[in-house]
Amino acid sequence: MTYRGRFAPSPTGHLHFGSLVAAVGSWLCARHAGGQWLLRMEDIDPPREVAGAAASILAALPAFGLDADAAPLFQSQRIAAYDEAFERLRAADRVFPCWCSRNDLAGADGMHRDGHCVARARQDRPPAWRLRVPDIEVTFDDGLLGPQRENLRESVGDFVIRRIEGFYSYQLACVVDDAFQGITEVVRGSDLLDSTARQIWLQRCLGMPTPGYLHLPLVLDAEGYKLSKSDQAHPVDPAAPLPALRQALAFLSVPVPAVRMNVPDLLAHALTNFDPALLPQCSGHSVA
Ligand code: GLU
Repeated sequence: MTYRGRFAPSPTGHLHFGSLVAAVGSWLCARHAGGQWLLRMEDIDPPREVAGAAASILAALPAFGLDADAAPLFQSQRIAAYDEAFERLRAADRVFPCWCSRNDLAGADGMHRDGHCVARARQDRPPAWRLRVPDIEVTFDDGLLGPQRENLRESVGDFVIRRIEGFYSYQLACVVDDAFQGITEVVRGSDLLDSTARQIWLQRCLGMPTPGYLHLPLVLDAEGYKLSKSDQAHPVDPAAPLPALRQALAFLSVPVPAVRMNVPDLLAHALTNFDPALLPQCSGHSVA
């Protein structure tokens, strides 16, 4: 089976250093394996979207030498596929409507368990929809962090896959599209490590294949906090890509030559010297 990786940014801000690391890391893994690298714009959360961010991210990637093998997939154009997956889950009685408020769940760690809503059904607004999760351990072998296990009933409970406003959750859209794009390896930041068990459970419910997962160390600021795109921390400048590209490669422990090189040569050098086994094995480290 051909390796197929992807980079799947959310348009909540311009490309920043943390996303560049995820983009470069997933690109290197895909190219190293002789595989394809695809793009997906995760633009299904209008309240969090920043105008112009999707276009700016897509315009920035080629400046860093990161060319995809196909046109990007836009999640905003995939609602019919999410509707279809949702209807399948509903027909199989995997989901239930939920009208609970934060207060209703306060006594249960803010979580839902056992597949039912504790509030009364309301006529004045639509419900959120939650996926029932069983009391089983989901396990997977992370390509970098090794064996992982999570009991979803304990960690998140029955989780929302469609919000009150009708928007589908990141978890559902991500799973449907990883299957649609034929992704065999998901390489992303370790801030998403705790989404993986939920995604694997959804794949099982929908009869979709489970790709391999590799979670890269998270880029932290000097105080040890995650760089957040919405904070606009460390934006990268596509007009001067070399400093950030060199720094992203160094962050991923890829040898960076001392001599000045242009972007294509630097990436070619990185690819020749890239060894996934040498990626830093930690959940996060700071940028110098
Ligand atoms: N859209 C997500 C983000 O930008 C990443 C999704 C993924 O790689 O699975 O944080």
